[in-house]
Amino acid sequence: MIIDIEKFADEWGPEKTLYVYDPKTGMKGILVIDNTVFGPGKGGIRMLPTITVEEIFRLARTMTWKCALAELPFGGAKSGIIADPKQISKGRKMELVGAFSRALKPVCPKSYVAAPDINTGEEEMAVFAKENGSIKACTGKPAEMCVKPGVKCGIPHEYGSTGFGVVQATLIAANYLGLDVGSATVAVEGFGNVGSFVVEYLINSGAKVVAVSDSKGCIYNQKGLEYERLLKVKKEMLSVVNYEPGKVVEKRELFELPVDIIIPAALPDVITNENVDRVKAKMIVEAANIPISSEIEDVLQKRGVLVIPDIIANAGGVISSYAEYRGYNPTQMFHLVQTKIRRNTRTILEYAEENKLGLRESALNIAKERIQKARKT
Ligand code: NAD
Repeated sequence: MIIDIEKFADEWGPEKTLYVYDPKTGMKGILVIDNTVFGPGKGGIRMLPTITVEEIFRLARTMTWKCALAELPFGGAKSGIIADPKQISKGRKMELVGAFSRALKPVCPKSYVAAPDINTGEEEMAVFAKENGSIKACTGKPAEMCVKPGVKCGIPHEYGSTGFGVVQATLIAANYLGLDVGSATVAVEGFGNVGSFVVEYLINSGAKVVAVSDSKGCIYNQKGLEYERLLKVKKEMLSVVNYEPGKVVEKRELFELPVDIIIPAALPDVITNENVDRVKAKMIVEAANIPISSEIEDVLQKRGVLVIPDIIANAGGVISSYAEYRGYNPTQMFHLVQTKIRRNTRTILEYAEENKLGLRESALNIAKERIQKARKT
């Protein structure tokens, strides 16, 4: 424990690093509450056998910046249950989530508010909230679980708030570049929770999505792809590569296509030293977490490619969590995501221009300035 603090501690946190173990169920878990200057630490619960305190800390720190940038009354946190969901039954999974929830009661919801993450979803959140005893213990709950009695106001991830927010950031950034979204071409990596909604909202905004990938490959059609057909093909034939008409290309080729905008919405480190020279897009909007390292973002920026960082572009998820926490309905949630993401994107673009800095550096500076100011008051 002391070693962990020595390794990570700086002026921002982490305030608490908890290891929890329940001898009765065998549940083992980690919670890192990084910074609570603005409110309880917000962050998802992931379930994986490989979780380390270092990984949880890095994700908690990212949440600290994301919440400060989105001006939410939340701090940063993250947690993990050490288990392999592929090797255990659903009942056992829920047993572990229940035990984890009971173990975190001394700090949740006062200093930590949970959410879904890798291998946890709305069912796990329902168990987590029930075992904690407070509806405020987590967000991402089923729509029936309410803050206000009689009103349906759980906001499950199925509403697509993250993808919706990514598209808001894209529209503002395109406008800044003088790029007409109505005639722009876009390639979207990933067609999961985030990517599929990005495609839907982009097409609704008039953009032409010409390439979409998933774990099996990439489908490309210069004339544009149709959202409903993509969805049907993905559901019935399990991959977007079965879409017709279109050309199937290698997944990594998506980043080298002659398009105006690339939206990485799946994996980390997809644009690296290896392929950065072949990127032709004018703009990249980071829907995934850390799809490009800050060093490679700098390389792109020097070449005049505008890269909207993940901590700005994909904050729609945490903003909608806040809306759920406050008991807002979906219409109010979408309004909040739109207002905040549009304003934040404009703010970092202006800050970067005024201070002659990169967009990530600008975003981090703004987040740090806000936390420092809040500490003084
Ligand atoms: P998901 O599991 O729903 O979807 C992931 C998609 O990526 C799937 O379509 C999968 O087929 C595809 N994929 C996997 N390997 C691929 C590859 N090699 N090439 C192309 N596609 C590949 O996950 P998600 O919730 O959509 O999350 C995607 C990213 O967005 C992650 O980085 C996540 O951390 C980030 N994110 C998610 C949210 C959210 O609300 N879900 C919020 C903020 C950030």
